[in-house]
Amino acid sequence: MITPVLPTYARANLEFERGEGPYLYTADGTRYLDFGAGIAVNALGYSHPKLIEALVEQANKVWHLSNIYRIPGQEKLARQLIDATFADTVFFTNSGAEALECAIKMARKYHYAGGHPERTDLITFEGAFHGRTLATIAAGGNPKYLEGFGPAMPGFVQVPFGDVKALKAAIGPHTAGVLIEPLQGEGGIRVLPNEALREIRAACDEAGILLILDEVQTGFGRTGKLFAHELAGITPDIMPIAKALGGGFPVGACLATEEAARGMIVGTHGSTYGGNPLAMAVASAAVEEMTKPEFLEHVREMGVKLSQKLAMLADQHPTIIESIRGVALMVGIKTRIVNTELVEALRAEHLLTVGAGDNVVRLLPPLIIDEAQLDEAVEKLDRACSALEAKNAKGDVA
Ligand code: PLP
Repeated sequence: MITPVLPTYARANLEFERGEGPYLYTADGTRYLDFGAGIAVNALGYSHPKLIEALVEQANKVWHLSNIYRIPGQEKLARQLIDATFADTVFFTNSGAEALECAIKMARKYHYAGGHPERTDLITFEGAFHGRTLATIAAGGNPKYLEGFGPAMPGFVQVPFGDVKALKAAIGPHTAGVLIEPLQGEGGIRVLPNEALREIRAACDEAGILLILDEVQTGFGRTGKLFAHELAGITPDIMPIAKALGGGFPVGACLATEEAARGMIVGTHGSTYGGNPLAMAVASAAVEEMTKPEFLEHVREMGVKLSQKLAMLADQHPTIIESIRGVALMVGIKTRIVNTELVEALRAEHLLTVGAGDNVVRLLPPLIIDEAQLDEAVEKLDRACSALEAKNAKGDVA
């Protein structure tokens, strides 16, 4: 019999009742250290007092307002995002995929407004993940996510990950832009070299097409910079964001330059809930915290410490860990076993992590993590690896 909740997730049989900082607690008080952070969402940890205060204050005023009126919270948050980035304008959404939908529409409309309606194609990288709507599964190109859902939406051309030569060769008269993650998350923490990103930026400029950087997962300090593209010293034309933006409250946004947004005039896009006052209040408080220079400094410092600790761990467990990769607090452990086995062994140690493509286990701790908590995680990793080694040794004998 089908479950009351549509069974599209292989859920772990774990229920959490509350959270505090980087920890989640079950009803019986068992504590888990969360290095998944709701998949890169809870950057400020659980129950952050400033986010709770912002939510409660707004809840006592007004929950929902239609976008046919001015919404002061939107204007405030848009200003914060503009001041912190390359952008001139922002469209608010409820999720990452919706932010991507806005980005895709905007890129097409940009060329339409410029007299080139034929420029509709976006070039993407293999291994990409941009969401689960029809347009974003077409953009991601993962056959597993496309299967059974009818014809894939046209307008996406995929080239091998990181292959700048192939990407340049794919640019043609129908190209509207390039849509990539600066560092692939779901794809397995695959880092695009800064030089490649700079070359892609230059190729887009040369061809008169747009660069869309999906920073839904990489955004808000996870890589030690507010946005990952800052590491390469370039800026995109359009940038969908979400996840950490609301610190756990569902909200996304599509940021753009004035030029890229030239086609998005009155009536071209909309959302009933996008820019909801509750979401705006919480996101505004979250962004205020995450744009503090000391916040990013802390992420960089913890990132260096974590990578040193993991390098040692990898040396100690060569039969389990193939390599460690990533930037700052967006880390992937490429395993020599099936990655879900390590995720499960870590869960038994009360450390929560997330699987990813390419046989990788993702470590995405809340960005407020401290060194003692990093040590706690590494000890749990050490114990889980040892348990798997013991299990595998027993298996060899049998
Ligand atoms: N883009 C990237 C890079 C993501 O990692 C995700 C989600 O994991 C999305 C888009 C989709 O975001 P959402 O699940 O909020 O629709």
